[in-house]
Amino acid sequence: MPPIDASATILLRHDTDPNSPEVFLVKRSDKLAFLAGIHAFPGGQIDETDREVEVRNCDDQQLAMMISGAARELFEELGVLLTHGGELLTRGQRASLLDDLESGRMSWQKLLQHFELHLDANDFTFVGRWVTPPFSLRRFDTWFFLATCPAKQEPHVIPGELADGEWIKASDAYNRWLQSKITAVPPTLHALKTLAGGITPDLVERFLATPNAHGESVRRIEFRPNYICFPVRTPTRPPATHTNCYIVYSSKEILIFDPGSPYEDEQLALASTIDELIAEGRAVREIVLTHLHPDHVGGVNALKTHLGDSVRVAAHRSTAEALTEIKVDHLIEDNELLALAGEPSIKLRALHTPGHARGHLCFHDSERRVLLTGDNILGLGSVLIDPPEGNMIDYLRSLERMRAIPDLTILFGGHGPAIATPYQKIDAYINHRLERERNILAAVESGITKPSEIVAAVYNDVSPKAYAMAERAVIAHLEKLRAEGTL
Ligand SMILES: [Zn+2]
Repeated sequence: MPPIDASATILLRHDTDPNSPEVFLVKRSDKLAFLAGIHAFPGGQIDETDREVEVRNCDDQQLAMMISGAARELFEELGVLLTHGGELLTRGQRASLLDDLESGRMSWQKLLQHFELHLDANDFTFVGRWVTPPFSLRRFDTWFFLATCPAKQEPHVIPGELADGEWIKASDAYNRWLQSKITAVPPTLHALKTLAGGITPDLVERFLATPNAHGESVRRIEFRPNYICFPVRTPTRPPATHTNCYIVYSSKEILIFDPGSPYEDEQLALASTIDELIAEGRAVREIVLTHLHPDHVGGVNALKTHLGDSVRVAAHRSTAEALTEIKVDHLIEDNELLALAGEPSIKLRALHTPGHARGHLCFHDSERRVLLTGDNILGLGSVLIDPPEGNMIDYLRSLERMRAIPDLTILFGGHGPAIATPYQKIDAYINHRLERERNILAAVESGITKPSEIVAAVYNDVSPKAYAMAERAVIAHLEKLRAEGTL
């Protein structure tokens, strides 16, 4: 599926200090399917009427459409009307216009026409085009614009897609990210960092000085400082197409989690990112495996060859015993602490969390409030529990153990984007499994005994393509119900 056209506005405060500009940063609602709870700029998908909107001083149709989308989203999300001809509108009149638009009484194009408002390309400075990495099913090709908030308008978050918003100095927002207080995606972070350098004559140049600002998909994603999420293409289970390799680094050392790709081009891309970190004076401490599945270990031997065979591989004993092709040098125990030398101090506690796989490990950084969840919790797709490697009693126990970790702010899963709503996500996982179990039990009590028939009765919300996986889950639930004496 090609990425969806979208646009976003980096809104500067009127009369802001050019040495330390303020921007309007928003927090996405916790309820969204895509990037819930993440800090970003107002924006969204282009809609059909954006094509029909005329933009002054713009002879490029595509650019005009993108500007229209950016302006419409700004109005819909923050009530800011960045048009000419609207200067005399009162706040109340703008609110009634917004109501016309939201209720569908008038399209954006009709509304602009009717009230003799017009958009001007000179108000919107193009500062980059970013494409969502392929770890997500919903991918956007987003055009970013820099614009200044009109003098007499004050943005306010209109409840819906956004939870919150505020004027903040770009440098302060960037520092909040450095302190792990907010989660942001690469284009947001790049914009904050660039603006933190001030509104200089070369500002636009600095915005565009990365291939990622020209539609080249981002490979190295730092949702949090010192944690690189590096999705690599793998033969994994749909809907995922990639497995997230994580690179955790300090000034001196690097840990690499799950280099899973068996494909040479992907292995080279990963190796070159690791080489960059090494060139800056770091050494690879270990390659760490969360569990044994091929889409998590497929690139281990190639990476070892690239880095030199002295690089150690670490995993849980059960993983080590099952992997015949990979030599594991370090057996990680439950609660063992992996501490990186150098700055900043980074300590990851290993948690043996079986269920998806016997030797499954998660890793907790209490200082940064990060949990690497492996395949126990995913940002995309559902977790396979396939007996005998998979075990539903263990899995629910592991989820409860993860739920009990205090102060988590982010989950980094084996597939899909980071999850900025950790407890909500873990609760949803637990509740979903328990609800399935109740329905399976009800099906059994009504006389259905064959797992395939239970699937047909209980999994009416999934596509038949997922039935084989659902049948494994049913078998795992039946095992659990029997072991607990319910059946
Ligand atoms: Zn797995």
